[in-house]
Amino acid sequence: MVDTQLVPRGISDVRVLEAMRSVPRHLFVPDAIIDSAYADMAMPIGENQTISQPYMVAIMTELLGLKGYEKVLEIGTGSGYQAAVLAALAKEVHTIERIPALSVRAASKFRAIGLDNIFAHVGDGTLGLPENAPFDGIIITAATPDIPAPLIEQLKDGGIMVVPVGERYSQVLIKATKRNNTLLKEYHTPCVFVPLIGEFGWNG
Ligand code: SAM
Repeated sequence: MVDTQLVPRGISDVRVLEAMRSVPRHLFVPDAIIDSAYADMAMPIGENQTISQPYMVAIMTELLGLKGYEKVLEIGTGSGYQAAVLAALAKEVHTIERIPALSVRAASKFRAIGLDNIFAHVGDGTLGLPENAPFDGIIITAATPDIPAPLIEQLKDGGIMVVPVGERYSQVLIKATKRNNTLLKEYHTPCVFVPLIGEFGWNG
């Protein structure tokens, strides 16, 4: 997966490549599709949700520029795979999922592979986690019409947010760096994510 999908597409952060070599993606997909766990695509995980394509996990992680000391917030736990990759690269990861069954399943995977620096929360991630803020990095793994205001508030000055922003069925991946309460935005690859549903996302 790393040699055929990530390196040829330009993923070059050696820490990200190493994390994606080491996290067992097959543990995060349903048993019925375990043979395709490392395939070059997003896949269904139940509850009408998906585990993201490996390349999308890699580029979103690379854009966060993690060094190892960070506290990171992920919105959209899903399978838990992205959170596990982040946990290999940051000090502490908080991940929020709106569908309780997915959160419970992901948390059991984190325990099974000994990832004790991930904290799984259930709720509307568009509100963030004020009690654990501020964050060095925030990643939204669902599509949003705009960057939710509470998440901008909860990002540290100098912090980075990576988020797919756009229409319901087509978005652009944005890296936004917070400086003096302003977001400096870089536009990256086009993408298609399931919707971010919540108070500061889509209605449903
Ligand atoms: N990061 C996941 C992974 O590694 O498998 C993939 C996430 S999936 C593409 C998007 C997830 O966002 C879904 O599980 C969905 O239920 C969740 N979601 C959507 N709106 C949300 C919200 N407001 N708060 C928290 N999670 C949300």
